[in-house]
Amino acid sequence: MNKKSASEMSFHIETLGCPKNRVDSRRMRTSLLNLGYNEAKKPEAADIFLINSCSFIREAQEETISTVFDALKIKEKKSPHMKVGLVGCFVERFSDAVKNDIPELDFTIGTQRYHEVGGLISEKFSVETAGHAANLAAASINADSHKPFAWLRIAQGCNRSCAFCIIPKIRGELKTYPVDSIEKQWADELALRGAHGTPVREVVLVSQDTISQGVEEIERIVAQLSAKDEIEWIRLQYLFPDRRVLDLLDLWAKYPKLTPYLDIPFQHVSPEILKAMKRPSDTGLFREIIDRAHAITPDFEIRTSFIVGFPGEEEKHFADLEKFIAGHRIDKLALFRYSHEAGTYAGDKLQENTSDEEKYRRINQLREAHLETRKQYATGLIGRREKMLVDEIAGGEITLRRAHDAPESDEVVTIPLPYRASGRSQDDLASAASPATACRVGDMPLVELKAYTEYSFLGEIV
Ligand code: SF4
Repeated sequence: MNKKSASEMSFHIETLGCPKNRVDSRRMRTSLLNLGYNEAKKPEAADIFLINSCSFIREAQEETISTVFDALKIKEKKSPHMKVGLVGCFVERFSDAVKNDIPELDFTIGTQRYHEVGGLISEKFSVETAGHAANLAAASINADSHKPFAWLRIAQGCNRSCAFCIIPKIRGELKTYPVDSIEKQWADELALRGAHGTPVREVVLVSQDTISQGVEEIERIVAQLSAKDEIEWIRLQYLFPDRRVLDLLDLWAKYPKLTPYLDIPFQHVSPEILKAMKRPSDTGLFREIIDRAHAITPDFEIRTSFIVGFPGEEEKHFADLEKFIAGHRIDKLALFRYSHEAGTYAGDKLQENTSDEEKYRRINQLREAHLETRKQYATGLIGRREKMLVDEIAGGEITLRRAHDAPESDEVVTIPLPYRASGRSQDDLASAASPATACRVGDMPLVELKAYTEYSFLGEIV
């Protein structure tokens, strides 16, 4: 690879883990494209194979390791010149093990230098670089650029110390991004799509702990994005349940582009377990937040997550969780099996007392209870007409989303395409007669909800 120029080289990025990693992968991609690197048409063809890793819990760690070995296998069998690099959370958390146990890796980069990845790679492998704005425009071949939404990162890291969480150790202290940096991310996003790319109708603001940005700063960002005509929806993700969320909710009255959606991980509802988790144990606040959101509009939807089987959780604590789910309208619920992680307070200092089998049993029980309440609420929405966002047209159907659902994690609405139209190109579809066949990704038609099955709706364009 010596003496090659960046324009002769291609890269592939494999992204694991949460939406925050997707944002960071985009930053790596921008940094490589800016220096003249090309995006590989398929992973095996890449000169540089980057894995943006996750190390949050055991399953994520296993997935990272198997992805690394898959990439190394490609290198060994098909592409010996390929450079394989591991980036992000896993490197930060297991740096010694990565160095000692996977010497085949060509390079590693931690969580603080995503935006410099292009420069770091060029330096390490002596690649000649050039500014290549054209590569940014041409990069709209990337699947993410065909989505009508974009994630923008508003902060990095976390200053809290939840007992089960390794993130502050991996991502470092909270570092908030000023409005200018969000504006820059927005400009990069548009450049990546090019003049004829899919329009961005929705912006999702992500960070590990969005509320710690402070209500004033969040408002500045929301106001700036609200002023952009092409953006229809602004969504905030990952709000730590502290009192400032109550003030934050006032913004919904001022900024109609904010979606009626709150993503607020409670993690548990038993004050005893919350204290053991080193999280605020005022569950009255959780109720206040839900009530305040529903006072803005009764159809405000709440997403939360609970960890099941945390050290010390007994049947009575679990019963509190069940009661809470039955007694409150939680619209989207993520249930996690507690994972005993070395390096976390709980993993190092607390004793596990619940078997994995029992954790799964509890999760299933909660899921059943939630599905029941969700079904009741969702079937009550049948017949409603809402403006929805077309996310995808493929496989004989249109996939849309309500404002109440976040991309790639919540419910969707599908509309089957007429039989003859389903195998045709978007241009063909546009010339056909029915409203469904004329739809394009990024459109926001008025759709009537027709039926609800487990966690998805069937709709019809009005
Ligand atoms: S707020 Fe979130 S990221 Fe921060 S320590 Fe708690 S769980 Fe981890």
